Amino acid sequence: MKKRILLLAGGQSGEHEVSLMSARSVLSALPRDQFDVTPVVISKQGRWLPPTETQRALESGEAATGGDLVLHRAASAEGYDAVFPLLHGPMGEDGTVQGLLTLAGIPFVGSGVLGSAVSMDKVMTKQVLASAGIPQVAWALAARREWQAQPDSVRERAATLGYPLFVKPANLGSSVGISKVARPEDLDGALNLAFSLDRRVILEAMTAHKPREVEVGILGNDAPIASPVGELRFDADFYDYETKYTEGRATMHIPAPLSAEVAEQVRALALRAFRALDCAGLARVDFFYVEETGELLLNEVNTMPGFTTTSMYPKLFEAAGLSYSALVTRLVELALEER
Ligand code: ADP
Ligand code: MG
Ligand code: MG
Repeated sequence: MKKRILLLAGGQSGEHEVSLMSARSVLSALPRDQFDVTPVVISKQGRWLPPTETQRALESGEAATGGDLVLHRAASAEGYDAVFPLLHGPMGEDGTVQGLLTLAGIPFVGSGVLGSAVSMDKVMTKQVLASAGIPQVAWALAARREWQAQPDSVRERAATLGYPLFVKPANLGSSVGISKVARPEDLDGALNLAFSLDRRVILEAMTAHKPREVEVGILGNDAPIASPVGELRFDADFYDYETKYTEGRATMHIPAPLSAEVAEQVRALALRAFRALDCAGLARVDFFYVEETGELLLNEVNTMPGFTTTSMYPKLFEAAGLSYSALVTRLVELALEER
């Protein structure tokens, strides 16, 4: 019997288009002799599109309007053996869709409610990883209400961290709303931008030098494995939105040119983080490696990383001998596994 798979793509976040690209790749890679795959595109307004509109959105790469209310359509997920929620960012990667699927009793690819929600939130992630003894940059939390009522206490926290520092909305991705603040005069603008996008904002000390950015893939549930380590190189002050999504701005190096000891440390820390955050299925764990000091700092955990055939996560496992199509098949098997 073929397994019936519902592939969810698009979604309400700024990574809607990235998700549709990933979905096209997954759709053509899931072996048809094993799986019956139905794609459903979620519009930017959060509505689930019927088949013809879904097809149109997949082809055009965007779905702005149309569709049915989620709760109306979620019931139609019944009858599927598993769901592949190929959604990035808020309202998809953050435990919301995972909660809906859990309530509906349908297995799905990737982390559950807890792992998804905690990993999406940069502050919660830092707190959990700190208690697991995983090295990270110094950081502080600021809440919107506090910024409105006692801006000076937030400014003091920034001064304690020192400049330059990074200001980020706690719950976004793709570098949206992130500023590198070089001087105190630029702090207010960065905070106003971040607070226009999220109620919670994280302030982060910058690494002692511009870091090397290395990433590793994790695959599995209770016995997860780590991929080889990859590195991103780019010619920009930091890995901002433009650098991420402009063709040719960044290059991937797999395996990353690192000593065997450092690469092993990356893998071991990533596996520890995956377990500490209660992740499942897959995650891409991103690190800063400060070559000058030898420091290795965990930056973030992405529970639904970019998934086109040229994205880092599938490329890392390809380097380990697992083809794109074998990888997506494995992810569905992991979703169906008893946990
Ligand atoms: P996102 O979840 O949007 O990808 P990140 O936290 O990964 O956000 O930050 C985006 C980029 O900003 C990083 O890839 C890196 O280039 C730079 N960056 C973020 N935080 C720091 C930091 N504390 N020190 C140095 N560079 C940083
Ligand atoms: Mg991220
Ligand atoms: Mg990042």
